[in-house]
Amino acid sequence: MVTLNLKEIFKRRARFTGFYRLSPKELSLPADMGELKDPVNVYVEITKEKGGYHVHMEIEGNITLECSRCLSPFVREMSLSEDVRIEPYPMRDIVHIKPKDLDVSFFEDEESFNLVNLVREQIILSVPTKPLCDPQCKGIPLKEESKGDTRFAILKKLIKG
Ligand SMILES: [Zn+2]
Repeated sequence: MVTLNLKEIFKRRARFTGFYRLSPKELSLPADMGELKDPVNVYVEITKEKGGYHVHMEIEGNITLECSRCLSPFVREMSLSEDVRIEPYPMRDIVHIKPKDLDVSFFEDEESFNLVNLVREQIILSVPTKPLCDPQCKGIPLKEESKGDTRFAILKKLIKG
């Protein structure tokens, strides 16, 4: 687990950079999101901003997804470059989320900020809802016998009369 003590780090500086290799086990993606077989490389750059931090991340790795058409697994190369603003959880009862706040992530503890959670979030967001092994994927190949559907032929005859 990679946790950063932001409070401590930013006592003496305004910018922090780090490089991490996160294992599939650490990232533990939800099963229906795809599978990581190798570690993911993460370069992170954090700068302090008013009321929070700006996090720039470069995420590189491979993810195995299942094609939504032919259902076969395929490997997709990830090369993400993401910018997220992180803020402490608002202590108000009601949180009004404005559209511009959508790329804001919240953290609970400034002294142990969990970077892995943020990386996992970005990987999940990058997975297409209908992954395709190939944009031209034809889906599951139909068997030869379904070519000449007799019921359809009979129906055609009936219509023609
Ligand atoms: Zn496919």
